[in-house]
Order: sequence, then structure tokens, then C-alpha cells
Amino acid sequence: MPIYEFKCRACGYRFSEFFRTMHSSDEGIAPPCPRCHSTDTVRVVSSFAVHGPSQPDPQEVAAQKAYEERLASITPKEMIDKWRSSSKKEKK
Ligand SMILES: [Zn+2]
Repeated sequence: MPIYEFKCRACGYRFSEFFRTMHSSDEGIAPPCPRCHSTDTVRVVSSFAVHGPSQPDPQEVAAQKAYEERLASITPKEMIDKWRSSSKKEKK
């Protein structure tokens, strides 16, 4: 049974899917992401998995972490301000 690896382009999640039969017409199909259910998934070429690192790009991870940290530090106050201004508008 052929096992294929897929990567979700929406959330970056990687997963494997096996097919009982693999027809040439099935080459283009990609299963939906099991994590976010996005159908924006791409098949990962097996040679890439062998040669490339199985972990995500460290630069990508660092950027994501920095973004999340920035988001966490600014969100509370900004959200409170938003809620306050929106509730003021509602009362008016
Ligand atoms: Zn996903």
C-alpha cells in the first residue's frame, strides 16, 4: 500500500495518508487536513522528506513565535479598548 505524505498549506501540519489503490487519475488528489480540515493540502515528495529536515523551517518558527508573542502582549489592551469603544457606541 502506498503511503503518501501531505502538507497542509493553511496551518502547515504534515500528515501521512495511505491509499489502498493508486491510479494515475488519483495523482492530483489530496486529502483534507485532519487538523484544520482545509483542502489546501499538497503532496510532499518523498525524496524531500528524506533529504530535507522533518522539522519546520527554524526561521519560520522563530517568526511565528515572535508574532504570537507580540500578539499576546498587545492584544489584551487593544481588545479592551475595542470592547470599551464598541460598548460605548452601543449605549449611545
Ligand atoms: Zn491544516
